[in-house]
Amino acid sequence: MAERVATASRISDLLRAPVGAVDLTAYDPSATVGFAGDKAAGRAAAAELGPQLADRQECLYANGTAGDPRRVLLVLQGMDTSGKSGTIHHVIGQVQPLGCSIAAFKAPTEEELANHFLWRVRKRVPGPGILGVFDRSHYEDVLVVRVHELVPLDTVEGRYEEINQFEAELADAGTRIIKVFLHISPEEQKKRLLERLDDPTKHWKYNPRDLDERAGWTQYQEAYELAIARCNSGAAPWFIVPADRKWYRNWAVAKLLLEQLMDMNLSWPPADFDVAAERARLLGTG
Ligand code: AMP
Ligand code: MG
Repeated sequence: MAERVATASRISDLLRAPVGAVDLTAYDPSATVGFAGDKAAGRAAAAELGPQLADRQECLYANGTAGDPRRVLLVLQGMDTSGKSGTIHHVIGQVQPLGCSIAAFKAPTEEELANHFLWRVRKRVPGPGILGVFDRSHYEDVLVVRVHELVPLDTVEGRYEEINQFEAELADAGTRIIKVFLHISPEEQKKRLLERLDDPTKHWKYNPRDLDERAGWTQYQEAYELAIARCNSGAAPWFIVPADRKWYRNWAVAKLLLEQLMDMNLSWPPADFDVAAERARLLGTG
């Protein structure tokens, strides 16, 4: 009997943002693109990815210690409650923390505002062998800044090209960039904000300003469409991840990250010492 070759589509292809104009209203935030099962199956599938992710991340780290310049940068963007920190918890939480660097970008400090918008970001880019994660990023400087007109529109308009140059520079230095837009619906956000209000252990996550941001939902979606369309090179691609279902979001980001790590074709660095000689030396000790 002829062997059947699995031809399952790659999540990296299924979730890749299109080249050219982006219309986010055409994407269903509650979709489960590339996954046929239910919540329980999704959770099980995500858990199965954990050891594989941990293995590839450790191999990346090992190569970093051996002088390989390669590293990974996972950029997480999305509206409030879209699951940026939940993704870090569930996906990145499955790998060795030593090889990770996680940076959250909040409203800039006075010192940060006095500098170029990429100044604070450059300080947090991952080094060789590191899996870097950005919880928000330099994209805020063309998102919240654009929606609230925090700087003149001309300045914002120039930033897309600055971002492209910055990301090309990172890619040239050996960074595999994976940009994820966690796409939620306004209905799901309402539900999640309510949960935060109704649970005293979640009050710290709530900010009354979140409601002002929510009021600008459409402008934010438009700002995201522009950012994704204008900064979507092959070296720094965007992925649109439906994020209304947390279990799907966790599975999809884990799968995406694993595929990207696999694409790096990492192998364990060979010993830079004589293994047999070291073994004999060790056995000869007391
Ligand atoms: P959170 O991620 O919920 O802790 O909120 C961080 C807040 O910082 C969000 O409201 C962001 O929009 C805001 N923020 C992040 N980066 C910038 C920036 N460059 N300029 C203005 N606000 C920013
Ligand atoms: Mg918040």
